[in-house]
Amino acid sequence: MGDGWTDAGLPSRSDAEAMFRATLATPYMSYLAQYQGICKAEIVAVSNGPTSIGKIAPDPRQYIPTVQLISDKEITDALGVNIDAAPRPEGEQTLYMAIISSQTQPVLSEHTDAGGFHYFFAHNGRNYDFGVVLNFSGNTVENIWGDLASVFTHELVEACTDPDGASGYRLTPPPNAKNPGENELCDFAPKVQLRLPGLSRDVGLESYWSNLHDQWVVPTGYSVRAALGQQTPQAVYDVWSALGAVRVRAAVRARCT
Ligand SMILES: [Zn+2]
Repeated sequence: MGDGWTDAGLPSRSDAEAMFRATLATPYMSYLAQYQGICKAEIVAVSNGPTSIGKIAPDPRQYIPTVQLISDKEITDALGVNIDAAPRPEGEQTLYMAIISSQTQPVLSEHTDAGGFHYFFAHNGRNYDFGVVLNFSGNTVENIWGDLASVFTHELVEACTDPDGASGYRLTPPPNAKNPGENELCDFAPKVQLRLPGLSRDVGLESYWSNLHDQWVVPTGYSVRAALGQQTPQAVYDVWSALGAVRVRAAVRARCT
């Protein structure tokens, strides 16, 4: 969404899509299996939202004179149009991601001073989870490549582990318990900069908290233990020797396909 995707030299819609596809092609989500068996996400559909969204308004943070200010309703209305145009099957665990860029202004949500957020909304009697990534096309190319996938992964992980923003998984103990929304699994997480296969530049990926490992993780190689959803560290090699490599792979696939 937005009009910030067409400037020569800046990341385009297809660059953004390539970043997200490259991210989801890695085992990035594999350690989420410990949280009620969350599995790998895949991009099932991509479409362009409205180019005109939000309005130029004084920066509520007062950092700069004006920003492109966007209401939640504009975002969910645009998602509703998308949902009606290409409905997803009932029962599918669909997460909508709105990637918004404005040509000349930093983009800001009316309700939060953040690079992204996630929530849910009702549309035609069904609840939909969604995440939002706010991009500033006036940023440097390096920064845009560094930020897009990191905000995308941040909201992806948190939308999966805490869809309603209130009752899901939290950092424990909370590092800064101002409100529950700030203690989700990527809040305060360090970003990791890396080159993913198929991309010409580095992207940033957000790490997320793993209770299993008791640390921030950005999985870059498969862990059999995490993929099997085992909660405590134990001899992974015993699993391999007991089941045999083929059956371990089958078990992993059966759990996360
Ligand atoms: Zn967060």
